[in-house]
Amino acid sequence: MFIDSHCHLNFPELVENLDKILAYMRRNEVSHALCVGVNLENFPQIQLLAEQHDQIFASVGVHPDYELDTEPTSEFLVKMAQHSKVIAIGETGLDYFRLKGDLEWQRERFRTHIRAARLCAKPLIIHTREAAQDTLQIMVEEEANQVGGIMHCFTESLEVAQAAIEMNFYISFSGIVTFKKAALIKDVARSVPLDRILIETDAPYLAPVPYRGKLNQPAYVKHVAEEIAQLRGISLEEVGRATTENFCRLFPVNFRRIGAISLSASSRH
Ligand SMILES: [Zn+2]
Ligand SMILES: [Zn+2]
Repeated sequence: MFIDSHCHLNFPELVENLDKILAYMRRNEVSHALCVGVNLENFPQIQLLAEQHDQIFASVGVHPDYELDTEPTSEFLVKMAQHSKVIAIGETGLDYFRLKGDLEWQRERFRTHIRAARLCAKPLIIHTREAAQDTLQIMVEEEANQVGGIMHCFTESLEVAQAAIEMNFYISFSGIVTFKKAALIKDVARSVPLDRILIETDAPYLAPVPYRGKLNQPAYVKHVAEEIAQLRGISLEEVGRATTENFCRLFPVNFRRIGAISLSASSRH
């Protein structure tokens, strides 16, 4: 069993074929996918997807790449996160790659999300790109360790991973770990404790080898797991078991009940 800890199933290229995508997940033993919010306009759609499908969980947040006229408050994010299938706050964080200039608003928005997560006691999904030191510093200052969460699509050093792990965070690897030139990330995937690893697709982006460059989907998370198994010299089953247990430890809400329903459904295929 595998869980895709981060994808964007609501994006048009995926949601158009949702039935096929969910069926393909079942065939590949991918039991659940966490559909991550990037802005508030699309949140009702994500929440609806989570309501309609046992396999889908949701999160609420505004991605650091979106420039807004009005910033959400922590209280508003908490209100949006009240649904039982909205299990996380994010994705949030810092991205100094896409946007340049004075990004104080990004840092302020990140703080707002951490405060929201602490208010509703839900874990964070953190995106960081070319901003690792500021990301860690804000996590410390806002006590993100109180709720923990996921460092998603991890592309930083082992030191950054260790600092995040000390703050109760999990390290989630995407299809990038399967890319030939990703030596540093492969090293991190070899080195971090197995009980701190998650796997994700970030679909529709970043399809793993052998689908690199094509449209990504949650079923392909198995290829991320395969790469990690190979790097660590353990079995695919072991990676599946560990990453699923890790996901359940981080998100205990209703998971087992929902998981049991999906399991019996998938065994029919
Ligand atoms: Zn991201
Ligand atoms: Zn994402």
